Amino acid sequence: MTPESIIRSKRDGDELSRSAIEAFVQGFLSGSVADYQMSAFLMAVVLRGMTSGETADLTRVMLESGERLAFPGVPGLKVDKHSTGGVGDLVSLPLAPLVAACGVPVPMISGRGLGHTGGTLDKLESIPGLRTDLDAIAFERVLARAGFAMGGQTPTLAPADRRMYALRDVTATVESVPLIVSSILSKKAAAGLDALVLDVKFGRGAFMKREEDALVLAHELVRVGRLLGLGTVAFVTDMDVPLGRAVGNGVEVESALACLSGRGPEDVMDLVATLGTAMLCLGRPGAGWAESRVRLEQAVADGSGRDRFRTMVREQGGDAGVVEDPRRLPQAPASLPVVSPRDGWVTDLDPAALGRAVIELGGGRRRAGDAIDPAVGILLERRPGERATRGEALAVVRGHTLPEAERVARDLVAPAFTLGAEPPRPRALVRSLVTERGARPWAGPRTWEECVGPAGAGANAGAKAGIP
Ligand code: URA
Repeated sequence: MTPESIIRSKRDGDELSRSAIEAFVQGFLSGSVADYQMSAFLMAVVLRGMTSGETADLTRVMLESGERLAFPGVPGLKVDKHSTGGVGDLVSLPLAPLVAACGVPVPMISGRGLGHTGGTLDKLESIPGLRTDLDAIAFERVLARAGFAMGGQTPTLAPADRRMYALRDVTATVESVPLIVSSILSKKAAAGLDALVLDVKFGRGAFMKREEDALVLAHELVRVGRLLGLGTVAFVTDMDVPLGRAVGNGVEVESALACLSGRGPEDVMDLVATLGTAMLCLGRPGAGWAESRVRLEQAVADGSGRDRFRTMVREQGGDAGVVEDPRRLPQAPASLPVVSPRDGWVTDLDPAALGRAVIELGGGRRRAGDAIDPAVGILLERRPGERATRGEALAVVRGHTLPEAERVARDLVAPAFTLGAEPPRPRALVRSLVTERGARPWAGPRTWEECVGPAGAGANAGAKAGIP
């Protein structure tokens, strides 16, 4: 099998064997397969697709290209959450410590902002001193002490993904279900997980614009996750409007701290509750939805989630004082309200415009490696479904200088709002749950029990976690 014959097979729509995929990816890492050959292969995958079996083989090969974390010193099933990314999606920040406070360890490997979507690592690094470049030993130490750890992909974790992603980014080969699935799952499986809850987003603020495409991705993530022995379920959620009331790095950390005290925006608190309860059900087989939900609420009410967050910040070298005093986060010098031009209901809010506004303010990247300003961002005083009177603030733009804040407010933030005479129809944030049994519209605990079983304790040969 030469590299050329493997590319030709995929170009012609054949199903590749595991040995062909292995030879090709290993050849790429060792230098016998050139970048231009990998680029051609990636394009062939974009155009021809892969079966779930091929995608699982590709994922395994990518996963085995580097080290696999294991945490023998940390008892219990390890569960993580991964979101495909959105605007204002700060959910990981309160979710991981709350789940950890309920006794389920969360080894979370996160990413940086991509395009107009934010990334957990960038948000965390707005906490002065906090480091996310943890090696395996430091990561396990934080996990043992805080019950969760938040780090980035190290050079030794799924290095094939790192190199393939760099090529995908510049060869128009990011948008491919098998390539996205193998990229996400190779990193997650390398992080020593037993189970994974996915938040697959769709809409203007997401990577997948259409709900049906998000469902296809969710199904494939679940199928391949299970083939790898990882207990995997996916929620498909709406990202056609931004999540929460903050967009930007430091401002999202501040909002996450409010969530840990039970004072976060309603939609964020709801999503944290749904995803967190699912993580607890998977991490503690036998515990059903109702019991897990109550436990999670207790971790908010008794402050134990906030305590875990403080421990993680301290262990990762950050200023733990931000937990009590969020003003210790970087503060932007200029602050400008965007006022409502008339009385009315906010009927729509474009998340992509807000994501671009944060990039314009310097809080996101135009190119990989750009420095970002953690202090800038947008606070949403009104969300869709809320009423504003003329002259009231719809949003506040926090920028580095007033002229810059004025330009971004005028060109991007004000036009992102649509006002109308009638309130918009309410939208469901969580649309469906996808498990190996298929997809069901999400109707709360009943759907979980239908898809996963009443106690979440079905036999789970591969993953030990609580899904059948
Ligand atoms: N996130 C990843 O980690 N990989 C992709 O391919 C897309 C999103």
